[in-house]
This record gives sequence, structure tokens and C-alpha cells, in this order.
Amino acid sequence: MKKTLMTGFLLSLFLASCSSVKPNNYIKTISADDLKTHLYIVAGDEMEGRNTGEPGQKKAGRYLISQYEKIGVSYPKEAKDWYQKVPAEFMARPFSPKLGDSENIWAIIEGSEKPEEIIVISAHYDHVGMKNGEIYNGADDDGSGTVALLEIAKAFQQAKKDGHGPKRSILFLHVTGEEHGLHGSRYYSENPLFPLKNTVADLNIDMIGRRDDKHKDNGNYVYLVGSDRLSTDLHKISEEANKNYTKLELDYRYNDRNDPERIYFRSDHYNFAKKGIPSLFYYNGSHADYHKATDTPDKIEYDLLQKRTQLVFATAWELANRPERIKVDRDGK
Ligand SMILES: [Zn+2]
Repeated sequence: MKKTLMTGFLLSLFLASCSSVKPNNYIKTISADDLKTHLYIVAGDEMEGRNTGEPGQKKAGRYLISQYEKIGVSYPKEAKDWYQKVPAEFMARPFSPKLGDSENIWAIIEGSEKPEEIIVISAHYDHVGMKNGEIYNGADDDGSGTVALLEIAKAFQQAKKDGHGPKRSILFLHVTGEEHGLHGSRYYSENPLFPLKNTVADLNIDMIGRRDDKHKDNGNYVYLVGSDRLSTDLHKISEEANKNYTKLELDYRYNDRNDPERIYFRSDHYNFAKKGIPSLFYYNGSHADYHKATDTPDKIEYDLLQKRTQLVFATAWELANRPERIKVDRDGK
């Protein structure tokens, strides 16, 4: 009797020390309906195309903050508020329009065991504003990634409330100035709130609500770019998460080292990758409405947006909860 009890006790200790809690229950909280509600606001006309430094972008930023407050997620205690100011001078370029001061926005769910180790989940919340009186809503680019972050935060926060919060910290980073040259992410990578050596990975989302012409007949895919360039672990974890939870077709064509479009260098993850941080970029490819006034929320496939968001969440869950931090074992090329 005693022996059996003891075995049971040891077994429960063992189970508690494994990362035995699976993300299943929390994956389900990421919903197409909530993504849609958020996206109709973030990419609504009142946000005026969210051009960097302009009132519409700042209004969208306030909406994001209000949603974090609503679910009880705060900005990092290391920061004085929700904003990392990105000064106009930093973004100034010859031959480019002069931009106003702008802001990255950050929110954090602190890790329960290794809070100093940070998983960044990023998406740019700026778009190109208005031209000739037309609003460029940027629903896919990158309203889709922006609202995905809100849903992922909600799922992790629910897990935390249930006593299953992430072991490492998750930093939700809404970067600015992407459309004018990846400015916000570059600013963060040069002025990081947390030491880059403690930054485990960046999962970056830029356009995940649509499909491209190459997948006209089957939308059940996502392009993954960069997963294997710095860390074999990251690539494996991502594949495993998809196999277990989302079963999307993972398309690596833009991860080809000879990709003529050089997609790997064209979104915010690259500013992390170039500092040696394993980075993975989630992308649906281009389409007829890309950078046009017709990139509107009614054209988003919300079930697909939900599934891709769930893949990012499941991958982040494993990165945050596995006993060993992922290793950097490749040269980034
Ligand atoms: Zn974009």
C-alpha cells in the first residue's frame, strides 16, 4: 500500500515536471469570429490605412492596447508604458516621404520558470495610409498578423489563468514603419528591451488571411520562411506543431536560398535573424489586392486565418514550455 502510494506520488511529481500540459484546450480559444471582429476594426476606414506616424495608425494602436487591457495582459514592467517610441529621424531616408514619430507597441505574458528568456511574436501594424482620397485598409497586410497576435495573447492568458502559463516569457511586438523599410523591427533590434542573447526566437506574421494564385484550389497552406536557417530545433518544432494540431500544407518555396523575390529579407523577422535569433516568417503570398485599396476585411478567409494563427500559437507554446531552450546550430544562410 505504502509503496503504491509512493509510486503514485513520484509519478505525479514526474508528470508535473514534464511539459505535460498540451495546448489543445487553448488552441480552441483562437476563433475565426474574434479575429473577424478585431480585423473589421483594425482595418476599418476609421483607421485611415494606418500610415506610419499618422493619427489613423495611432488610433489602431490604442485599440490594440485596449484589447490587451481587457484580457489582463500588461506592457513589460521594464518599460514605462505600452510604447517604444521610434523617432522620425530614425526612419528618415532620402527620397522617402518624411514620416512622423511613431511607436512600436509591446505586451508581455511573463514566464513562470524562465521569465528572462523571451519568445517574440511580431507583426507590423502600420500600412500605407491613403492615396488620392482612397483608404488602403491593409486587411491582409498586415491587419491579419496584427489581430492574430491579439488572439494568441488571449489563448496564453487563458492558459495562465488556469495555472498553465508559459514557462518562458512571450513578448507581443506590434512593430511600426514596416512598409517604409522595416523601421520598427530594426529599431527594436538595435534598442531591445530585453537582451538579445536571452531572446530565444521570433515568430513573425505578415499576411496570413488570404491565398495566392498558386493555391487557388486549396487554401490549406502557409508559406514558412526561415525556419531552418539558424536552428534545426525551430524547424522541427514548427513541423511537429503543424502535424499535431493544424495539418496545413507547409510550403517552403520562399525559403529557397535562390528565391528571386528575396522574401526572406522582406519582413520584420529579418531584423532578428540578422542578429542571430532563430526566426520564422508566416506568409500567404501575394495576390491581386496586395498594396491596393482593395485589400479589405471582407476578402479575408477567416477560417484559414484562424488555422494559421493556431499554428503560430502551437509553435510558440512548445518554444516557451520545452525544458531546453532551442539551440542555434546553423549559420543563418
Ligand atoms: Zn506587410
